[in-house]
Amino acid sequence: MSGIYLHIPFCRKACHYCDFHFSTSFKTYDAVVAGMKREIEHWAAAWPAPIQTIYFGGGTPSTLELSDLQSILELIRAKFDVEPAAEITIEVNPEDVNEAQLEGWLSLGVNRLSMGVQSFFEDELMWMNRNHTASKSVESIRLAQKVGFENITIDLIYGVPVSSTSRWKDNVQMAIDAGIPHVSAYALTVEEKTALAHAIEKGRTQQPDEEVAHQQFLILREMLIGAGYDHYEISNFGKPGWRSVHNSNYWKGVPYLGIGPGAHSFDGDLRRWNVRNNALYGQRVGSGEGWFETERLTVRDRYNEWMMIQLRRAEGISLEEVSVRFGERYKSLFLSAAESLVDKNYVKWEGDRLVLTENGMFLADGITVELMDA
Ligand code: SF4
Repeated sequence: MSGIYLHIPFCRKACHYCDFHFSTSFKTYDAVVAGMKREIEHWAAAWPAPIQTIYFGGGTPSTLELSDLQSILELIRAKFDVEPAAEITIEVNPEDVNEAQLEGWLSLGVNRLSMGVQSFFEDELMWMNRNHTASKSVESIRLAQKVGFENITIDLIYGVPVSSTSRWKDNVQMAIDAGIPHVSAYALTVEEKTALAHAIEKGRTQQPDEEVAHQQFLILREMLIGAGYDHYEISNFGKPGWRSVHNSNYWKGVPYLGIGPGAHSFDGDLRRWNVRNNALYGQRVGSGEGWFETERLTVRDRYNEWMMIQLRRAEGISLEEVSVRFGERYKSLFLSAAESLVDKNYVKWEGDRLVLTENGMFLADGITVELMDA
C-alpha cells in the first residue's frame, strides 16, 4: 500500500503565522499544474505499490480549478493502481466552499474534506489574517454535510494570544456541535520569518503563552474524548472508524509519493524533496532536469525519524518493532532513554509499547529529542 500527496502551492491571502510553501500570486498556476501532470507520468512507471490514499494539501487545494482536479485525478487513476475505495482528501478553505464546488469534488470521487476553520471567532481570524469569516465556516460545514460529505475534518488553532480559555472551550464545543467525525488541533507556533514573528519582534502583538496553550490542550482532550473522539495522534481526534487513513499510513512508515513544488516523498529508504519555488518547479519539470533532491537515509536517520513519528501516536513505540527494524544496539539505546523518561512521568509502558503520559503529550517534541540517537 502507498499514498500520493499533491501540494497545491497557492493561497488567496497569506496567514500571518504560516511558513508552508505557497504563493499568493497565481502567475505560475498553469506551469505548476502542467508540471504536476508531468511528474505524475514520470514517477508512475516505477511506482510499485497500489495507492490507498490520495491527498491534496497546500497551500490551498480548493483554489484548484475543478477541470484541473479532474484531469489530475484521471491521470493518477490511469497511471497508478488506485484502490477502488481509496481515501481521497482535499484541504479546502471555507471561502471556496459552495454547492457547485462541493458537488464537483464529490462527483470526482473526493470523499474526505479537510476544512481550515482555525477559529469560530471573527477577531481571531482577523488577527491570523485568514481570508474567511466565522459565519462562513459554519455555513460551509453545513453545506458540505447537506451535499453529502460525511468524512469531514476541521483544523483549529489553540494558544492564540488574542483568544482566551473560555473562548477556546467555545471553539471546541462548536466543532463537537457541528457533528463532524474528525478534528485536528495545533498549538500556535511562531515560525521564523513569518509576519507573526515580525509583529512580535516589533512589539505589535504578544508572544503565545506556553502555559495557556498547555491548559487549552488539556481542555481540548477532555472535551473531545468526552464527546466520543479517540485521541489517536497528538494533534488528531477521530470518532471510531473515522481516523485519517492517509496520515495514519504516513505514521506507520507506508511509502508516499509527493507531487508538486516543495512536496516530499519517501519509499522506505530514499527521501526526496522537490524544489520549493513555483516558477523553478514548472521550468525544471518541463525540461526534465533537477527539480528534486534525494537522500538515502542511514539507520540512524530512520531510527530518529521513527522515534519522532511513533511517539506522537496513541499506540506509541513498540519495543519489539524497534528491535526488528533497527537491531540490538538501538533496542538498548531506546530502553535506557525510556527509563529516565518513565521516571519523569513523561512516558509509560503499556505492555511492549512506550506511550506518552498526559503530562508528556504537550512536551512531545522535547521528549523525542531525548529518545534520539544524537
Ligand atoms: S491558507 Fe493555509 S497554507 Fe495558505 S497561508 Fe493560510 S495557513 Fe498557510
